[in-house]
Amino acid sequence: MPEFDVIVVGAGPAGSTAARELAAAGARVLLLDRAAFPRYKPCGGGIPLRTARLLPFPLDSVVEDRVSLLDVSYRGRWRFLRDSGEPFAYMVMRDRFDALLVEHARAAGAEFRPGTRVEEAGEDSRGVFVRSGSFRARGRFLIGADGANSRVARAVGLGRGCDECAAWELELSIPADRWRARAIIELGYSPWGYGWLFPKASGASVGLLLPAGASKSLRAEGERLLGRLGLEHAEVAIAQGHKIRLRRQGVPIASERVALAGDAAGMADAFVEEGIAYAIESGRLAAKAALRALGTSGTMRPYESDVDREIQPELDAARTIAYMFYGVLRRAPGPWLTAARYAPFLWHAFFTVMRGESTYAREVERVPLLPSIARRLMERRCRNCPRRRSSSGSLGCTAGRA
Ligand SMILES: Cc1cc2nc3c(=O)[nH]c(=O)nc-3n(C[C@H](O)[C@H](O)[C@H](O)COP(=O)(O)OP(=O)(O)OC[C@H]3O[C@@H](n4cnc5c(N)ncnc54)[C@H](O)[C@@H]3O)c2cc1C
Repeated sequence: MPEFDVIVVGAGPAGSTAARELAAAGARVLLLDRAAFPRYKPCGGGIPLRTARLLPFPLDSVVEDRVSLLDVSYRGRWRFLRDSGEPFAYMVMRDRFDALLVEHARAAGAEFRPGTRVEEAGEDSRGVFVRSGSFRARGRFLIGADGANSRVARAVGLGRGCDECAAWELELSIPADRWRARAIIELGYSPWGYGWLFPKASGASVGLLLPAGASKSLRAEGERLLGRLGLEHAEVAIAQGHKIRLRRQGVPIASERVALAGDAAGMADAFVEEGIAYAIESGRLAAKAALRALGTSGTMRPYESDVDREIQPELDAARTIAYMFYGVLRRAPGPWLTAARYAPFLWHAFFTVMRGESTYAREVERVPLLPSIARRLMERRCRNCPRRRSSSGSLGCTAGRA
């Protein structure tokens, strides 16, 4: 049976980053994915500049468009345009983007085995093991980067207790020149959520994000969104739903020999539900933790506090902003959209975060009262919610329609 220092399950941005960093440091790494690559992944493919900066290689070969304009409306009403002056995000298709990340992991020395669906995984006194059909491998440590429905997380009992939301993605084959350099954001979904259109080289990705409790209305809402965009007759190449998981501090993501990274660990933010940046960052932290453990005969447990220190504050700040943004939007959509339209500092802050010149945490710190106001707004929203927590409402909770 092949033996490795680290086995990484899942070759999305979290897994391929972990594998690349480990292999580059000289570790023997096995990277497994159930899919043959390149593979489709339901995703808007929005890569803010701050995400691109986390990678030590250029993305030019997979960039389909560069976006500098935000076209915002409330279900097509109160529409306005914000220009960031320079690109704040790249647009990619995930099949090509993820394949590029895997190529870099392989070039660094990771052994990649596509078409390997892990059915069993675990840890014992000798190390970790995985099984896929008749294929078996053992290692000293395991990184579960197998996405929002992580088999590794279930097998080892980690990652329980994340909030969830539901997303729907359509890939349209349309002449997208009309939307070049422009991302469309449509607000106005109850109790929160948004629709988007992101331009690609030969089409567009259109999607919708709602609380998990509202997932049944995704399709009908999605069709109405297409109608408002004038795309009801567009050729749909792919349509797929998927969930997004949102971690709070305290959700366990590491054991003696196993760590979860990316979506498996709930590393997505509650404001725009972006996850690629946090997948890359957590993949990198998991690799560091494994290298440390390999060098000291230690464990993967410190990884959880690394995430709590380096990533969780940003996820918490994004949640505060989301409470505030969607809380006010629900109560007073017209005034809020009007204020947002004429408040350039809001968009300036957003663009600087997207470009990596600021962070959500820094922006929240500028308004000392924001966390308590945001919490009160969501507490009220969640008064009738069966999953209400004592101190804060749950954005993204399955009962989010309260
Ligand atoms: C509709 C939608 C739109 C989104 N838009 C954006 C966006 O525009 N920008 C952004 O930053 N984020 C976006 N996100 C979030 C983003 O897609 C994720 O956060 C990101 O893909 C997480 O990366 P990951 O590596 O953790 O997991 P994934 O990218 O999901 O990769 C997991 C990998 O594990 C593999 N796998 C799963 N199970 C097994 C198994 N049993 N054995 C072996 N392999 C397995 C899968 O094949 C997959 O390749 C969006 C999400 C959705 C659902």
